[in-house]
Amino acid sequence: MTKSEKIKQALKQTKEKRKFQIPKVFQLKLQNISKSDLRTLERLFLEAKWFYNYVIADIENRLNNKSEKLKEVEIKTPNGFEKRKLKTLGSQIKQGIIERVRNNLNALEKVKEKGLKVGKLNFKSDFRSIPLKQYGITYKIDFKRNRVKVQGIKKKFRVLGLHQIPENAEIANAYLIKKPSGYYLYVVCYLWKEEVLKEIKKEQFSIPVGIDLGIKDQLILTTGEKIRWYIPETERLKRLQKILARKKKGSKNYLKVKRLIQKEWEHIRNKRRDIQSKVISYLKRFPLIAVQNDDVKSWHAGMFGGQVQNTGVGGITARLRCLATLIPVEFVDRYEPTTQRCSRCGFKQRLDLSQRVFECPKCGLKIDRDLNSAWNILELGLKKLAQRDKALADRLKSALPVDRGEVKPGEREASAPCFAHGVSSLVETGSPSL
Ligand SMILES: [Zn+2]
Repeated sequence: MTKSEKIKQALKQTKEKRKFQIPKVFQLKLQNISKSDLRTLERLFLEAKWFYNYVIADIENRLNNKSEKLKEVEIKTPNGFEKRKLKTLGSQIKQGIIERVRNNLNALEKVKEKGLKVGKLNFKSDFRSIPLKQYGITYKIDFKRNRVKVQGIKKKFRVLGLHQIPENAEIANAYLIKKPSGYYLYVVCYLWKEEVLKEIKKEQFSIPVGIDLGIKDQLILTTGEKIRWYIPETERLKRLQKILARKKKGSKNYLKVKRLIQKEWEHIRNKRRDIQSKVISYLKRFPLIAVQNDDVKSWHAGMFGGQVQNTGVGGITARLRCLATLIPVEFVDRYEPTTQRCSRCGFKQRLDLSQRVFECPKCGLKIDRDLNSAWNILELGLKKLAQRDKALADRLKSALPVDRGEVKPGEREASAPCFAHGVSSLVETGSPSL
């Protein structure tokens, strides 16, 4: 077998294996960074930026595997072109950056195919994430001593959080990330689906769930739970932005305030992500999740833009898409009339946006508008599931209570511990049927 045939075969085997695995990213913060380490790390990110910008300045001639051997690149400065030595950037990392350019180009191409206007790849003024393609080559983890080693840097950094990585996880690529709060290693691991599912099933509910994504109550579940959260920009952020506006652009003080703003943003983003994680870890206990295929991006453009961003509903949809590789998640077409239809008898009527209660003139159902919608979404989701797995759909359907809005008390109580840290107060479990 030739070398290229061997590589092809290995890739095929990996692809086959990945069908039974799911990716999970573990974040490790680099500790004990000395002043000289900091200089090395800064240099690494700087060289990565130079290399990236060098490649995209002339994609046709530079996007090839010859570039990964470069020891020097030419960059544009206010004084014209100047040469820069690549001292710390390893060839595997350069290869990873070349691949990133290729991926970015493909993404642009896809947008173009949709008929949207796109420009070229932009030069980067700040490079924050360095791809580390192969475990064992671009980076190594020493589990016994809690250390990581990155190609091109002599120092082995101490890291926190290695214990989160399960023993039989397959460690794949990683990213070295620069954040306002420090440097991190994001390690991509592959876990066996079967084992992850076994853990989920230990505490799985018997009933499926339908979710209505709303503006006021972020998630309305058929269990009657309304999960809402709101993490606005902080007062501190607003204050810092005002201070920044008074500073001279580019001055030492300006940069100092700017760094503080970036740090504050990181803090807000972390909080939002944390809540999303908690919501997802609760939702994955349902044997089926039915949710509207909402295009949150189109909301952004509209009047609700700010609020949607503050809550991160878009993030939830994206994470449900990931979850769909593990447990049944059915996305229901967003053009289905889920609001106008009575979830008990199917009668259709027009409902104004101001009408918060759905009252059916035919069967007499009186129910919260969003909850009615959630029930319709669940029904559509069950129909979609039935096309793939009729037995499962039937079983889940029969587990549902006859009375809409009624949930077994045991199941409702079970939801509380998931939100133990901070979110519990935001979950309303009051009676939803009016
Ligand atoms: Zn009805």
